[in-house]
Amino acid sequence: REAEAWKTRFEEARCRDGHRVEVAANLGNTTHAADAVERGAEAVGLLRTEFLFMAHAQEPDLDTQIAEYREALDALKGRPLVARTLDVGGDKPLPYWPVPKEDNPFLGLRGIRLTLTRPEVLETQLRALLLAAAPDAEGTPRPLRIMLPMVKDVGEFRAARAVFDRLVDEIPPTERATDVQLGVMIEVPSAALLAPTLAPEVDFFSIGTNDLTQYTLAIDRDHPVLSAQADGLHPAVLRLIEMTVAAAHAHGKWVGVCGELASDALAVPVLVGLGVDELSVSARQVPLVKARLREFGLNEARAQAELALGQATSEAVRDALEAR
Ligand code: PEP
Ligand code: MG
Repeated sequence: REAEAWKTRFEEARCRDGHRVEVAANLGNTTHAADAVERGAEAVGLLRTEFLFMAHAQEPDLDTQIAEYREALDALKGRPLVARTLDVGGDKPLPYWPVPKEDNPFLGLRGIRLTLTRPEVLETQLRALLLAAAPDAEGTPRPLRIMLPMVKDVGEFRAARAVFDRLVDEIPPTERATDVQLGVMIEVPSAALLAPTLAPEVDFFSIGTNDLTQYTLAIDRDHPVLSAQADGLHPAVLRLIEMTVAAAHAHGKWVGVCGELASDALAVPVLVGLGVDELSVSARQVPLVKARLREFGLNEARAQAELALGQATSEAVRDALEAR
């Protein structure tokens, strides 16, 4: 199976009936972008920019950030790059950013909450991304999608959007990204519940099923005993995904999934059946997920999504899907 998947990795990912789903790669480092392309990735669906901030003894300056983002964009040769703004804090502190000790770091100052307390850091990162993605010497755009982590409602999105809009106005169009979108991660249950109020304002959603599952089920994703129960195929999580996709599509916006669930063989048809447009997985999994998509059609995917949504526990979902 793996050998067959490898041979067809550069072909578009389409279901049996031709339904198109984009398969992208999650990256923890810009130097891995070329490898992702070699494995058949059609985009980078999640660049975790934390690496850049953790690799330095102080905040990386504008030019350092531009050089890093440009490296990934150039390796992608016109394929989109979805870069997530800094998602640290909580359990991932930065040595040069003292954060008061918290009893519940996963419920504390992390992601967009933290960067909004340091608007100058967010501004430098957004500026670096916009400048790095300026069209190349021939005028060919470098497609850039920027996404904000841990957004809980439209208030946080608007605060970040204001910084973004100001930069877009300020930087001459020839010097910055021309093909650019600003979206949010859906990984806090409130954002999924409020997706109808976010959808008109964002350009896209990317569902982070790792955190969405952790916060929906109230199970620490790294818990030594309980983490196996933090299953993204839980019907409560699937309902939140369903609501998110419905809201996005009602406003003509696309939805990706960039959590671990996107590479789970049982979950792939369920996510497609729920209407997800893009799956972003570790680079190693790209050929396998593309091959998995070719095994079923959209009608079968919809039937599997219905079946899963009708179950009461994640165990029941897995049993029902396996039996089918
Ligand atoms: C997620 O939460 O699903 C996600 C993709 O982000 P991270 O794993 O980096 O928190
Ligand atoms: Mg997350």
